[in-house]
Amino acid sequence: MRSYDILIIGGGPAGSTLAYGLKGSGLKIGIMDKQPFPRQKICAGWVTPEVMRVLNVDLEDYAKGRVLQKISGFKIGMLGQKQVESSYSGESVSYGIRRIEFDDYLLQRCAAELILERPFKKMEKIDHGWLVNGEYQAKLVIGAGGHYCPVARAIDSKGISELAVVAQEAEFEMNAEQKQACTIKEEVPELFFTPDLMGYGWVFRKGDYLNIGLGREDKSKLSSHVKDFCAYLEAKGKIPEGVSVKYNGHAYLLYNHAVREMVADNVLLIGDSAGLAYPQSGEGIRPAVESAMLAADVIRDCVGDYSKANLQAYNDMMQQRFGKRLPKPDMMERLPMLLKRVFASQLMKTHWFTKNIVTDKWFLQSHQSRLPAIKNN
Ligand SMILES: Cc1cc2nc3c(=O)[nH]c(=O)nc-3n(C[C@H](O)[C@H](O)[C@H](O)COP(=O)(O)OP(=O)(O)OC[C@H]3O[C@@H](n4cnc5c(N)ncnc54)[C@H](O)[C@@H]3O)c2cc1C
Repeated sequence: MRSYDILIIGGGPAGSTLAYGLKGSGLKIGIMDKQPFPRQKICAGWVTPEVMRVLNVDLEDYAKGRVLQKISGFKIGMLGQKQVESSYSGESVSYGIRRIEFDDYLLQRCAAELILERPFKKMEKIDHGWLVNGEYQAKLVIGAGGHYCPVARAIDSKGISELAVVAQEAEFEMNAEQKQACTIKEEVPELFFTPDLMGYGWVFRKGDYLNIGLGREDKSKLSSHVKDFCAYLEAKGKIPEGVSVKYNGHAYLLYNHAVREMVADNVLLIGDSAGLAYPQSGEGIRPAVESAMLAADVIRDCVGDYSKANLQAYNDMMQQRFGKRLPKPDMMERLPMLLKRVFASQLMKTHWFTKNIVTDKWFLQSHQSRLPAIKNN
């Protein structure tokens, strides 16, 4: 039997950030993940500079042997319409990373005890904590297992019926011929909103890698939407012809549509496990990292008593940071769909809307205050 103060289930950015944030706290921390690392994660791999700043990532060091694609603009439009480019004159307003590299980098530096290739199976309540898989005792169990996190399910079964974004994506290394045929600029990813406003597709070139994907808050016929999107990109001469790659699927919850409980006695959820992605962009890495940082503060303040009442402070901090959750449609959502589609199709043709609203507000969260960078000693 092994004992921990904190047992984190999931070694993605949420789990590793929490362990990193608690480094030097004197707490014994384990991270359990069902996969070996480095591991693939279905993701476009777009991160905002805030993520790198709050995590204290030394960009020069990170770029040694890893992909770190600078992004200085976005090309945005509705599928089938003319695109509009927002440029930031060479400033790096985002980065492209590969999750297989990024997640491993964060996990290896966090100094927690790693329990890899071990799936979480069950947890049973014991005095002052939980017994996980009949083998590991923990005073606090952290659900950081992503959208399908088994800890989230163990404390709250409502999650199963939530409205999730479902997405498919493929990332592959282009050969010399494909690199020549690909007209996507490395520093300018392209986004294509679907005319029914249910989601968007992207094509993102990161060094020699090309990442293509599409996500929708509607799971019907996703594969055929992805197929049509790729055919569109090919017809427009954006991606090489006849690319034969396997598209893999995953899902995530948008913060304002998620209804998951985030704390229970001796349990706390962070990252996708709690359903935190930004509503318009689907960015999930920054909320995963920020939720872990807020959780680290709350855990320190608990001084060993992880009752639900003590962990409630995390709920309050999350609400302060990300706003109130709105499981019911807000005013904009209640507008007739036809009206919204007509407006959106016109607005997406304008430079003002694509730059100030889509890029600055929705994607770069320029209005959001900055958290202090992580302290880890
Ligand atoms: C197609 C797609 C594209 C996306 N693109 C972007 C993007 O470009 N930028 C962005 O910011 N966000 C993006 N996201 C969202 C982003 O991927 C997530 O928000 C982010 O990975 C959340 O991090 P996390 O640590 O909470 O979970 P994850 O990164 O999902 O990590 C969870 C970990 O838990 C482990 N785990 C799961 N179940 C178990 C179990 N039973 N036992 C043990 N371990 C388990 C998994 O192996 C995994 O390592 C995208 C999502 C999708 C689906």
